[in-house]
Amino acid sequence: MAGIYIHIPFCKQACNYCDFHFSTSLQNKDAFLKALKREIALQQDYLGTKNISTIYFGGGTPSLLTQAELLDLFETLNKHFTIDANAEITLEANPDDLTEIKIRELKSTPVNRFSIGIQSFYDEDLKLMNRAHNSAEALNAVKFAQDQGFENLTIDLIYGMPTLTEHKWRNNLQIAFALDVKHISAYCLTVEPKTALAQAVKTGKIKNVDEQQSAEQFEIMLEGMRANDFVQYEISNFCKDGFYSRHNSNYWLKEKYLGVGPSAHSYNGITRQWNVSNNGLYIQSLEKNELNFESENLTIAQRYNEYVLTSLRTIWGTSLEQIKNNYGEKFAKYCLQEAQKYIASNDLLFEENQLFLTDKGKLIADKIASDLFEVE
Ligand code: SF4
Repeated sequence: MAGIYIHIPFCKQACNYCDFHFSTSLQNKDAFLKALKREIALQQDYLGTKNISTIYFGGGTPSLLTQAELLDLFETLNKHFTIDANAEITLEANPDDLTEIKIRELKSTPVNRFSIGIQSFYDEDLKLMNRAHNSAEALNAVKFAQDQGFENLTIDLIYGMPTLTEHKWRNNLQIAFALDVKHISAYCLTVEPKTALAQAVKTGKIKNVDEQQSAEQFEIMLEGMRANDFVQYEISNFCKDGFYSRHNSNYWLKEKYLGVGPSAHSYNGITRQWNVSNNGLYIQSLEKNELNFESENLTIAQRYNEYVLTSLRTIWGTSLEQIKNNYGEKFAKYCLQEAQKYIASNDLLFEENQLFLTDKGKLIADKIASDLFEVE
């Protein structure tokens, strides 16, 4: 079954590490929502199916949408698609938006899962990242959501920050476990070019990320997650039994998805396309009922490479059988041949015709995947 990703390109303020597409001016919000509804209508045939099993509001900050705005979007979605009765419907939310009143309001929308951007329970770290919320708001957001019956909660945490000592990282994890959330996404801080963080590192205001420290914090995380019955079903994603993100898992397993909103990406099995990353241009095009995107037809080698890159990071591993069936025997043989050195070094495990990363291999996942790529 297919999924829909909806990009809401507004944030209250810019986190210093972020390179997603967003604007801190909410001036065009109404015009954007009108354009978004037009795009949903214009893209109704892209997937080749109307049946939708997951919807994901990402951004930017989707929790800036009001209850009425969300209900209006669902009306448009329901007009053009058939949303499964048990669909997973996730809304990314910043803790400062998730007040008790807001969560009560969201209860009357089809949203049934929150992805809460907590990042750290230490205010000094949140300040360093220029986050808009504080740790008290983070704790309250989770509690209010649980009190209102939202069981399917995921929170984001970041490790590898120069100010994050081992003690603080262990504490962040313990606080997260005590909150009884069902899913945790934990990312290592990366210094993306052209971000405020990159500038601060360049001028020496903030220390760069220390690879050794990040690797140690990764190990601490794996140990803590295991001890608390979280399954690592993707390198950065951990869940309690049955609470894996269906939407993101579909990406990793190469299911079809439609992305709407500026900068959103779509994939229908053959082509990949991405919308213009500019709110003004996006709105202008849709005012003329025109879509504004670039696209590419994926070659078999590109599809093989993408499958390797995403599947290898998951608990389901990379299936040689699937490679043979979908991309041809030549690719399956090539993959296994390139994997040999990593099997020998205990970075990869080869079992039942599938390749899996070992804990050691997880630290160099991208390097391993790129070595398995077919270069055209
Ligand atoms: S709230 Fe999210 S999208 Fe917005 S600036 Fe921060 S990290 Fe980026």
